[in-house]
Amino acid sequence: MHLPVGSFEPLGDAGISGESRLLVFVVEDEEDIARLISHNLQAAGFEVQSFVSGASVVSEALREMPSLFLLDVMLPGADGFELCRQIRQTSTLSATPIIFLTAKTEEADRVKGLELGGDDYITKPFSPRELVARVRSVLRGVRKPLVNSEMLRVGDLEIDASSMTVQVQGRAVLTTVREFRLLEYLASHLGRVLTRNQLLDAVWKETPFVTPRSIDVYVRRLREKIETDPRHPRYLKTLRGIGYRFESPR
Ligand code: CA
Repeated sequence: MHLPVGSFEPLGDAGISGESRLLVFVVEDEEDIARLISHNLQAAGFEVQSFVSGASVVSEALREMPSLFLLDVMLPGADGFELCRQIRQTSTLSATPIIFLTAKTEEADRVKGLELGGDDYITKPFSPRELVARVRSVLRGVRKPLVNSEMLRVGDLEIDASSMTVQVQGRAVLTTVREFRLLEYLASHLGRVLTRNQLLDAVWKETPFVTPRSIDVYVRRLREKIETDPRHPRYLKTLRGIGYRFESPR
């Protein structure tokens, strides 16, 4: 039995109780990699269903309602992007998180995957620990739908949407409206990679003449305000050539 999004038990308990195991659909045609993924996710307390192509993924997902999809990009038949598109167009699956598996050389593909509605990506070759951490991180973002609450709390940060104020370790920090909007958007998509174009659409929608690169300037300013060491950010991580991800410090 899989619990609906929003009522998950803490993931730490998932391996013990057995009843609160979260189901992950893994679509990967390379057998060795698929086995490695299943083994590590199962060891971490997840239930796994593996597929070697995308053919029956959507129909099975409608029956079983997985908590997350892990999609290889290069698949026989419909590729991972096409599958992502199908999942996002299926109303009961449209909010289910998707993580792509990509080869190191496919940087443009990573951006494409995120803009098609992927939540994150994992680059091959990956460490099993990183894989489990990314899956947990994306599921954490889903479990706490921060978007609808007035107050976002992440680590030592408090972001209050009603008064547009930010506190770091209980100390108020001044931001401009635009900096605030960017921070709020990033923090409400915890664990999710956002491309510069996605941030531009979300925060600078009505503003012409802002280029994706201007976001880097805002990010730098935000880091100076919220990070203890802006050069080694704990919250606002850069994904080179891709965009940014807001994380809850470990
Ligand atoms: Ca493949």
